[in-house]
Amino acid sequence: MPIKIAIVGLGKIARDQHLPALAANSAFTLIAIASPHNRLDSVPSYHTLEQLLQAHANLAAVSLCTTPQVRYEAALYALQHGCHVLLEKPPGVTVSEVLALIDVAKANKLSLFASWHSRHARAVEPARKWLAARKIVSAAINWKEDVRVWHPGQKWIWQAGGLGVFDPGINALSILTRIVPASLALKDAELSFPSNCATPIAARLALQSADGAGVSVDLDFLQTGPQTWDIEVETDAGRLRLSMGGTQMFVDEQPVELAPGEEYPNLYAHFADLVQKRRIDADVTPLQLVADAFLCGRRVEVAPFIE
Ligand code: NAP
Repeated sequence: MPIKIAIVGLGKIARDQHLPALAANSAFTLIAIASPHNRLDSVPSYHTLEQLLQAHANLAAVSLCTTPQVRYEAALYALQHGCHVLLEKPPGVTVSEVLALIDVAKANKLSLFASWHSRHARAVEPARKWLAARKIVSAAINWKEDVRVWHPGQKWIWQAGGLGVFDPGINALSILTRIVPASLALKDAELSFPSNCATPIAARLALQSADGAGVSVDLDFLQTGPQTWDIEVETDAGRLRLSMGGTQMFVDEQPVELAPGEEYPNLYAHFADLVQKRRIDADVTPLQLVADAFLCGRRVEVAPFIE
């Protein structure tokens, strides 16, 4: 029997990725939508999750594609009403929210999937395996995109909890924390806040792995022209480069052939497996690093952001 699922928050990512991935996966059947303003013609749409659950008591799972600031309340409500939960990234606006959700999911014997879509990019597992056999000397993340292209009109991204440049930057950290075997500690951060925003538009971080490798992270939300989503890792036996958000892999600048695979179809295949086994997959490590950057980072005020 397919898992009866609803999407909560019918915005850009729900339409671009979740709807097609669900349509292509026979493990799920989309039965409804909850979104304050948006509607889908093909299934019943409700303004709130509460209304949706009143009408569909047989709902088994929800996919929470809302803005991050309302994710926790929706997740809590869904878990308390017996639904398995997939959280879009970031899984919450605070680490404590996610830890609380893990406890509630465990208590209710439900699946909770704090999804990190970039971890399902096709170069990530090959990179993890390649690095597992080597000693990492250093690493560098360069994650630079144009917020006006990728997040047009999204006011929430500049409001508290919206993460600013960490909204894309956390994708890089989700890959890094998956492919580097040792734990990573945040050692230094400088965050640039536009004078009219509550979240940063650029950030530079310094991390250190528990076995001594330094990692520099350079995030920028004002990159025009070619966009950069690169992770480079120097090892004792070669140099790894992941490009285009983990979809391309190079060793010593030679391209590595990769098996086909797309992030969101892989992500939903994993969620189906979690639901079937009633398991929890909720790694807070990327969010923890971002929280640490906000905790210790020096703040620099920069020019106001004008859309
Ligand atoms: P978006 O286009 O602004 O969509 C967010 C949606 O959340 C809105 O359409 C809004 O619905 C809905 N929403 C707000 N409050 C709600 C509530 N209380 N209950 C239910 N729905 C609510 O933003 P997005 O780009 O899709 O991003 C959403 C999340 O996905 C973010 O966490 C982002 O980091 C992540 N993500 C985005 C991308 C991307 O390329 N944009 C990629 C990967 C992940 P209404 O319009 O109906 O009010």
